[in-house]
Amino acid sequence: MSSIQISKVTKRFNDFTAVSDLSLDIAEGEFVALLGPSGCGKTTTMNMIAGLEEPSEGSILFNGQDLSATRIQDRNIGFVFQNYAIFTHLSVYRNLAYGLEVRNVPKSEIERRVRAMADRMSLVHRLDQPASSLSVNEMQKLAIGRSAVVEPRIFLLDEPLSNLDAGFRAYMRAELKVLQREFGQTMIYVTHDQIEAMSLADKIAIIDKGRLMQYGSPLEVYNNPANRFVANFVGSPRINLIDGALREEAGRMTMMLPDGGEINLSGQVGAAFAQIGSARSGSFAIRPQDIYFGESRAADDIAMQGVVDSLERVGPKRLAYLQVGQTLFLAIDDQDRLTAGDQVEFHLSADKSMAFDLKTGARLA
Ligand code: ATP
Repeated sequence: MSSIQISKVTKRFNDFTAVSDLSLDIAEGEFVALLGPSGCGKTTTMNMIAGLEEPSEGSILFNGQDLSATRIQDRNIGFVFQNYAIFTHLSVYRNLAYGLEVRNVPKSEIERRVRAMADRMSLVHRLDQPASSLSVNEMQKLAIGRSAVVEPRIFLLDEPLSNLDAGFRAYMRAELKVLQREFGQTMIYVTHDQIEAMSLADKIAIIDKGRLMQYGSPLEVYNNPANRFVANFVGSPRINLIDGALREEAGRMTMMLPDGGEINLSGQVGAAFAQIGSARSGSFAIRPQDIYFGESRAADDIAMQGVVDSLERVGPKRLAYLQVGQTLFLAIDDQDRLTAGDQVEFHLSADKSMAFDLKTGARLA
């Protein structure tokens, strides 16, 4: 096991900066997801932790130690990459045994560990078959099993589930979590899928354009996004993010919606927008579950009038798209009381509303 301290790491490829001034403290045994859109620098960060790339600036320490002079194979780091490196001509058994063989583990011990891993990955019946005969799902289990069997102190996984179908992905997610708990390894997991990150990780590092946007537990980043990017990236169904010009009249702030309608900005959000003033545009955000129908529940809650544009069933609930001018608010109709085309009054919970500076993305409230 090992803790990892990434301090002020920058990685440049010629003129292009792929990772910029990144600092992350990863505790021993922690499961950290690196989350961000394609090209944001996740794999580059992972490669630097693995020792496959060198930082242009900054340092990466393992239990306080600099391993840059240590050979990659001696660092006790396990990898699973998207294009899993399986030896397809070898049997499943030999693939699982490979990492233990190169570490000179005694034969009887190899046998025991390979069988235990094959058992947990439901590959026992495949042990003697060539890896090339495996299905995509089995191949992925083999890739994970092959790295996990050597019990590395750090386990790096780069989009390991992205080639799998949805049902099997969910199964493998659960399996990975169990594996990590059992071995207590420090696990770093690259994904662009926020649901995967939210369900697996102890902590999520959200990265955009090579920069760390926020680092915290799934609940922290969900409940308290540090900026507009994180608010928009995390949460399913997605947060309502509404950009508009701010107007101040007699001390009251209003957001003018494009093509008609407005939001009366009361409470903390109104106060925060008042600080940046009416010359600027703002970004108002509220999660679908914080929009409600019927009587107002708190004095500051914001009343809106709209039309039910469409409804979409998701399990026992329906997602309701409410149109105000040309802006759509996504809400949850959990009592099946709406009909498409209805005029409807709804409320935005002031306590749960968020305000961002549109230009910088900074959180204002
Ligand atoms: P994806 O999810 O698509 O793999 P990512 O977040 O993992 O994306 P990286 O693969 O780390 O992103 O790439 C970050 C940026 O750095 C990209 O714009 C990529 O083109 C660039 N990049 C990565 N490796 C190199 C390299 N060896 N030379 C030049 N540019 C590179």
